[in-house]
Amino acid sequence: MSSSKPIMKNSMLSAPILNVALKSLTANYQTLKKISNAEVAGVVKANAYGLGFATIAETLRKSGCRTFFVATALEGVALRLVQPEIEIYVLSPCLVRDIELLINSDLKPCLYDIEGILVYNQYTKAAGKQPGAALHVETGINRLGLGCVQLLSFCGNRNNFDIKIDLVMGHLACADDPNSEINKLQLSRFQEALKMFPGVRASLANSAGIFLGAEYHFDLVRPGISLYGHDPHYKFVTPRVEPVVAFSAPLGQIKNLAKGEYVGYGMTEQCKRSTRLGVVLVGYADGISRCVLGSAKGNVSSFYLAGCRAPIIGRVSMDLTTVDLTDIPENELGKHDRLEIFGNVISLAEYVESTGVTPYEVLTRIGSRVKRGYVR
Ligand SMILES: *Cc1c(COP(=O)(O)O)cnc(C)c1O
Repeated sequence: MSSSKPIMKNSMLSAPILNVALKSLTANYQTLKKISNAEVAGVVKANAYGLGFATIAETLRKSGCRTFFVATALEGVALRLVQPEIEIYVLSPCLVRDIELLINSDLKPCLYDIEGILVYNQYTKAAGKQPGAALHVETGINRLGLGCVQLLSFCGNRNNFDIKIDLVMGHLACADDPNSEINKLQLSRFQEALKMFPGVRASLANSAGIFLGAEYHFDLVRPGISLYGHDPHYKFVTPRVEPVVAFSAPLGQIKNLAKGEYVGYGMTEQCKRSTRLGVVLVGYADGISRCVLGSAKGNVSSFYLAGCRAPIIGRVSMDLTTVDLTDIPENELGKHDRLEIFGNVISLAEYVESTGVTPYEVLTRIGSRVKRGYVR
């Protein structure tokens, strides 16, 4: 038989919380400005990497940011509603049905093929508006972008278009590896393409590209993840940005299990000793990957309580995760009612090392019912 006790305290919020330190966001923006010999834009696609686009964009704007990137036209429309003054580029392909949204909300597309350029040109002409656009050139990553032949054809027919290209952009494939030769190759291809656009501002670098050095900065840099506290070169250098996010969840119950009892769906985990089990109110619906369970594979992921490791045991379920609290001193247990998933004790970088997912995935998968708490 197991004994258990409820531990929910009155003051406690029963939801997982993603705390976002806005001061650190501002500090990171300033750091990137110091490093970059260029205008620093803010990439706030995917709800600002899950942090909440409205608050993040407002904080960045107050820090001096004037140019923003979103992924989709609808993200752009939502951002425009709360930020009437800023410049907004939409990174993803804008299909014909999006163009009216773009024009009405004063959003700029990132054009990447001749067909799109033709259609956009036609619409803006008919609407009597020319909001401007970015031209995305292909330099090696082979996702979106105008290839060499298309680029030449566009430039050769420039007089047939009214489109105002106000930004030429490229995107790096391997910038998170400062030793990759591909970076230099993409850089030289990008420089080559820019010769066709004298006087137009240029942008190549995401966060990792900024840290590759000044020759990658051009006129505008486009950081996302580094604003949000993760240095993509963390394996090579001490992180140059401060942590911004801390993810924690309440402890719902503590149970004492006898040696030999099982835990969780599939009863995949058997207690090897008498175990003090903690039931944490967070699960895969909140963004805890089911892949974090690792004890069977020897790579145990942990949550942290009072700075002590609480290894995850059993399967992560939708709303709950079970952890082993046996090694945490009893007097510590009484003092704390939340476990940290990442943030202060372990960094986002350490968390991703133990889970095998990228920090981008971790942040963008944090569920919608997780409360975002802003520390100003
Ligand atoms: C997402 C994105 C960025 C931002 O990348 P980070 O690695 O988060 O800095 C920049 N440019 C483009 C084209 C992107 O899609």
